[in-house]
Amino acid sequence: MPSKEYRNSHVQQNREQLEFHVREILRLVGENPEREGLIDTPARVVRMYEEIFGGYAADSGEVLGTLFDEAHEELVIVNDIVFYSQCEHHMAPFFGKVHIGYVPSGKICGLSKFARLVDTVTKRLQVQERITSQLADLIAETLIPHGVMVVVEAEHLCMCARGVRKYGSQTITSAVRGQFKRDASLRGEFLSLIGRTAGKLI
Ligand code: ZN
Repeated sequence: MPSKEYRNSHVQQNREQLEFHVREILRLVGENPEREGLIDTPARVVRMYEEIFGGYAADSGEVLGTLFDEAHEELVIVNDIVFYSQCEHHMAPFFGKVHIGYVPSGKICGLSKFARLVDTVTKRLQVQERITSQLADLIAETLIPHGVMVVVEAEHLCMCARGVRKYGSQTITSAVRGQFKRDASLRGEFLSLIGRTAGKLI
């Protein structure tokens, strides 16, 4: 593993290069990067990037962490997990909510871990479809539950600020694994508990 000093100097080098390129973008879109309002913008953009692309520094497979033995083998739902991501086609934000439901098969994990998992998967360049299936797969592989269902609803700035310019349109994606695939009443229970009806969603 590289030393802390090496990693710090590497981070510093990355920052300087990013600031340089942000200044170049400002110049190429017709701005004067030296004017007062923009002078600190490259450094601010870099700090923002470190936050919104923070998922690259995390290992999604490790996030769910310690699992606990628990006999509860009924539906567990964590809903309305807010996320903010960047579409990989336009580098434009898309954001919304993730709803996760799973039926444990002897192992559960801390509920806040799902929110952390959503952060590590969404804080990178993404597409909504992949976020949805990655979350379902990571939960299925780590907890080995009877089943898992993930619903993601989001608004994409690349759809409303440019191109077709459709404001307020929501994209909804879902992924099901295990028991949820076979059991329509389980899917219905999940959807009604997150405040959606099967007819409205699918
Ligand atoms: Zn896009």
